[in-house]
Amino acid sequence: MEEVRVRFPPSPTGYLHIGGARTAIYNWLFAQKTGGKFVLRIEDTDIERSTEDSIKGILDGLEWLGITWDEGPYFQSAFANDHRRAAQKLVEIGDAYKCFCTQEELEQKREGAKKRKEDYHYDGTCRNLSADEVARLEAEARPYVIRFKVVRGPGGVVFQDAVYGVIEKRYRDIEDFVILRSDGSPLYVLSNAVDDIRDRITHVIRGQDHLANTPKQIMIYEALGEKLPRFAHMPLTLDPQKRKISKRAHGEVVSVQYYRERGFLPWALVNFLVLLGWSTSDNREIFSKEELIEAFSLEGINRANSVFDIRKDDPKFFTDPKAISINAHYLRTIKVEDLLPYVEAEMKAAGSWDPAFGTEKKSWFASTVDLIRSRYHTTKDFVNLGRCYFADDFPIEDKVLRKNILKHENLKLWLPLTADRLEVLEEFRVELIERVIRDLADELDVKAGILINGARAAVTGQAAGPGLFEVLAAVGKERVLKRLREVPKLYEE
Ligand code: GLU
Repeated sequence: MEEVRVRFPPSPTGYLHIGGARTAIYNWLFAQKTGGKFVLRIEDTDIERSTEDSIKGILDGLEWLGITWDEGPYFQSAFANDHRRAAQKLVEIGDAYKCFCTQEELEQKREGAKKRKEDYHYDGTCRNLSADEVARLEAEARPYVIRFKVVRGPGGVVFQDAVYGVIEKRYRDIEDFVILRSDGSPLYVLSNAVDDIRDRITHVIRGQDHLANTPKQIMIYEALGEKLPRFAHMPLTLDPQKRKISKRAHGEVVSVQYYRERGFLPWALVNFLVLLGWSTSDNREIFSKEELIEAFSLEGINRANSVFDIRKDDPKFFTDPKAISINAHYLRTIKVEDLLPYVEAEMKAAGSWDPAFGTEKKSWFASTVDLIRSRYHTTKDFVNLGRCYFADDFPIEDKVLRKNILKHENLKLWLPLTADRLEVLEEFRVELIERVIRDLADELDVKAGILINGARAAVTGQAAGPGLFEVLAAVGKERVLKRLREVPKLYEE
């Protein structure tokens, strides 16, 4: 059987866009699934946008996601001569021709069509120039473009798309399209097809926005006598207002980098992006890498456009809630050793990393991360919400302070008293801590909940979290005593 070869050919625009990432992921999955090869090709023909930074943004994004390629990156610009040669060959074999029409002439024709309320298609003026006329115009150094000669007659291009089924485009709806500009630069339809031929691509899996190019590319393949690849076009991703997701309309929220900077785990993002346009019959949402490779198929790609529920202005969910819940799922369930490097990187970036967390306090650090992650959504939470575990100073939420401490005048005495009782513990263990606090509540004839909520507020600044006795054990005796003893100051502020 023929080896599967797929490709991801982004045009660099400054960063890896989530739509591009999704295309890369589908291609990568298909290659993984079929034991095929995944080729990375940078379509860098737009010189202004294809800066080194822009290309690096794409490579870094893919690497961070864990999307590996088998060949490349190839750079399209290096193959411009191949593209020109292909255009030349098409002219020689009679499937393309030189068109000397000037911009002004074409503009006039376009205007004329507009006045007559007709769709404008190039009228083929230069299609039937004789060899002598062409030679004469060339001798006069008249600039020309090369146009593909589309069949003029009934019928059209018919192909089977793996997602959208049979697609037919009638020849009469396709104009003789330009494949080479007058400055000798090739157009995307040509370069992309020529590169796919050279790279022996067997499956073209790309966005539905390229569906309109496919009939033209099929004609190029056929004219060059090449075997067609299979095509699979993926649905578009829209925002809740049904606008196409784009950098211009949505800004940074559509870049992979945005998720990286906000505490996403790479696999969580891959898992989320795959679901934008692909599903299993049971609508499963969580897949390990192996499970996803096993489950993935081109048949599972949906025709309906997917919705990316961007909620940039929602303070809790800075993006699609499903993306956050998938990230939270992985954050809470992966092996803690696998999570630690991400937490470490996050803390280093925030300047709150203590080298001891990686040496003498390593096992304490791991068990604390494990304890607190059960309510976290992103790795940022370890820096913000987790600060009370890893630093001396930490914020106390206003509402929590009022409700769980200030409202109870007695806590001013009781929490320092709790500290005194805890101080005698030789081992600062969960069961012992619990015993001390429950006994003290009985002795004071107060509900244990009052002491527990008050202590949680004083020690973590938050109203919720893991079990309080586990929390105190994790924060450690010295810090707990200090925080409980500072409670009276909170009444003064
Ligand atoms: N450079 C094109 C893009 O980024 C590639 C399209 C294709 O896959 O053929 O949209």
